[in-house]
Amino acid sequence: MAQNGTTENGVPSDPAALPLPQPCKISEIKHTKIFINNEWHCSVKGKTFPTFNPATGGKICEVEEADKADVDKAVEAAKAAMKRGSPWRRMDVSSRGRLLHKLADLLERDRTVLATMESMDSGKPFLQSFFIDLDGSIKTLRYYAGWADKIHGKTMPVDDNFMCFTKHEPVGVCGAIIPWNFPLLMFMWKIAPALCCGNAVVIKPAEQTPLTALHIGALIKEAGFPPGVVNIVPGFGPTAGAAIASHMGIDKVAFTGSVEVGQLIKEAAAKSNLKRVTLELGGKNPCIVFADSDLQLAVQEAQKGAFYNQGQCCTAASRVFVEERVYDEFVRLSVESAKKIVAGDPMDPRTSHGPQINQQQFEKILELVESGKREGAKLECGGHAVQDKGLFIQPTIFSDVKDHMRLAKEEIFGPVQCIMKFKSQEEAIERANSTHYGLAAAVFTRSVDRAMSVSSALEAGTVWVNCYNALHAQAPFGGYKMSGNGRELGEYALAEYTEVKAVTIKLTEQLTV
Ligand code: ADP
Repeated sequence: MAQNGTTENGVPSDPAALPLPQPCKISEIKHTKIFINNEWHCSVKGKTFPTFNPATGGKICEVEEADKADVDKAVEAAKAAMKRGSPWRRMDVSSRGRLLHKLADLLERDRTVLATMESMDSGKPFLQSFFIDLDGSIKTLRYYAGWADKIHGKTMPVDDNFMCFTKHEPVGVCGAIIPWNFPLLMFMWKIAPALCCGNAVVIKPAEQTPLTALHIGALIKEAGFPPGVVNIVPGFGPTAGAAIASHMGIDKVAFTGSVEVGQLIKEAAAKSNLKRVTLELGGKNPCIVFADSDLQLAVQEAQKGAFYNQGQCCTAASRVFVEERVYDEFVRLSVESAKKIVAGDPMDPRTSHGPQINQQQFEKILELVESGKREGAKLECGGHAVQDKGLFIQPTIFSDVKDHMRLAKEEIFGPVQCIMKFKSQEEAIERANSTHYGLAAAVFTRSVDRAMSVSSALEAGTVWVNCYNALHAQAPFGGYKMSGNGRELGEYALAEYTEVKAVTIKLTEQLTV
C-alpha cells in the first residue's frame, strides 16, 4: 500500500534512493505447477488454466489447476509435516525464526523478478510492486520471524495444591485463500504468522494471479523449510477453494476476498469440522475531511485512498465526506490532481495507474459509473475507459453523491472517488457508520480532540488520522461488522494461529514452612 515517504508512484521521495529500479525480462515462467511437499506436481485431473497480463490481454502461461484431489494431497503433506516428532515439530523456535528471515533474504535477492512478475500478472505499476508490495512482504516476514521465539504462555496463581500454566501451541494445518489485488502481500500476511507459530499451510492463490505465489514456493524450498510445511495449490474458488474450506483435515482457514465468498467459507467450515475461520472482507470506507484540516494533504491522501492499485483495495476510500465550508475547494483540488495521474504500461516507471484485473471487473466498474450518472451524481472527471486501452479506466470523480445511490453503497473496486457534503460532526459520523462494512476509516483534522472523538465513534477496525493506507506489519488489521472476523498482522494475529492449552499439575508435597 502507498506509504509515507513515497510518491503515488510508490517511488521513495528520498532522491538518494535513485536510480530507479527497472523491470527485468522474463522470457519463461519457471514455476507453473502445484507445490506439495517441496516438489512440483501436475494436477491429478491433468488440467491447466491460463493466466493473463491485464495490461495487454496476452496469455502469460498455463498453470496446473488444483482441484479437490490435489488439495487432499496437499493436506496429507501438511499433516505429515505437523506429526509429532517430525522435523518441523522438533525444530527449535529460534530456527523457525531464522527460516522466516532466510525467506525474507531470498525475497530481497529476487525482488526485481518478483516485482516484474507481480506487475505482469496483476497489472500493478512496477514501481508500486517493487517498493510497496515487496517492502510490505519482506517486513511482514521479518516481523513474524522476530515473534517465533517469543510466543509463550502464562502461569496462573490457583490454590497452593496446584501448579497451572498455559502453553501456546500451533493450531495445525492452516488453509488460506487469497485474492488477486495484492497477491504477494496477502500470501505473506497468511503464511508468516502461521509459520512463526509452528503451523503447516495449504494456500490457494487467486486464479487471476498465481505466479508470484509459485515463485515463492521455490524460495520456501531453497530457504530450507521442511517438506509439507507450505503447500501451494493454484486453482479456482468453487473447486480448490471450496475443498479447503470444507476439508476435514484442515484446522483453520484464513480468507481474504468478497463478503459473498466469506459467507460460503464460514458455512463450509461450520458444516465440516467447525474449523476456525478468519475473514478479511470488503469495505465501503469513509474518509471524513473537516474544514480545519490541511486541505492539500487531505486531497492527496483521500485520492491515494481512492485510486491506489486502480481502486482495487478493500480499504479503498470510496466515500469521502467533506465539510460544507471546504467542499467546493476540495472537489476542485481533487479534480486537478486526478487529471495528472498517468495511466499506461505498468512496466513504465512514469505510470501510476494500471489496468483493472479483468474484463468482468472492468465492466462491473463501468456499470456502477453509469449508475452514478443515472442517479444524479455529478461526474467531475473520468467516467470512461481510457480509449483504445483494453482494461484501463480513467480515474473518476463524482461529487454530489447521495447516501442512497449505488455508488455510495456498493463496493466499487475501481478508480472511482465519491465525494459527499456534510454539515456537522455528528452527521458525518452517523453517515460514515451507516453501512454493513467496517474495515477502515480516515479523519482529516488539525484538532487532536476531534481526531480522538471521531476515531472513537467510527465503527472500523482501522482508523487513519491525517493519512491513508498507512499499514504496518506491527498493527492489527481487520474489520468490524461484515468486513470480517479476526485480525491479521501484529501481535493480535498470533492468537488466530495458536491454541491455548492450560496444564494443571496437582502437587503432592506441600511445603509447611
Ligand atoms: P473477487 O471477487 O475479488 O475475485 P472472491 O471472493 O471471489 O473475490 O475471491 C477471493 C478468493 O476466493 C480467490 O482465491 C477465489 O478463488 C476464492 N474463491 C472464490 N469462490 C470461492 C468459493 N466458493 N470457495 C472458496 N474460495 C473461493
